Amino acid sequence: MSVQSCKRCHILFQYSETGPQLCPNCTKQDEADFDVVRQYLNEHPFSSGQEVNQATGISLESILRWLREGRLISLEMTGILKCENCGTPIFSGKFCTECRYKLVKDLKGIAAPKSEEQPVQMQPKQDVHGMQFMNKD
Ligand SMILES: [Zn+2]
Ligand SMILES: [Zn+2]
Repeated sequence: MSVQSCKRCHILFQYSETGPQLCPNCTKQDEADFDVVRQYLNEHPFSSGQEVNQATGISLESILRWLREGRLISLEMTGILKCENCGTPIFSGKFCTECRYKLVKDLKGIAAPKSEEQPVQMQPKQDVHGMQFMNKD
């Protein structure tokens, strides 16, 4: 446990080191907002962040955070998310495939990463745009 400031309302709270860095109040609100977006994306698959923002009123900041947390994947290469290391447009998370691979390698020294540690290569389908849910299966 550590004291963190909530990413959403900026109050200080006891953070359990797992999940989004949000206070209990905002966690509830965040889940409700995510449900709205999930519902919208069910009805309008592959909408862009902008479209979701306009249609649902959920802030791009929240959408971006869900992308970073890997809860949403953006399939558009419009640079809504960029690799924090090299700036390459990415779909989800913080780093591009190459940088994640390099980071794992740096972390593990000379040993090549085991297959399960290799980042999943995410290839956009040619005719697909916008966002979809992370397939957890
Ligand atoms: Zn909060
Ligand atoms: Zn990179």
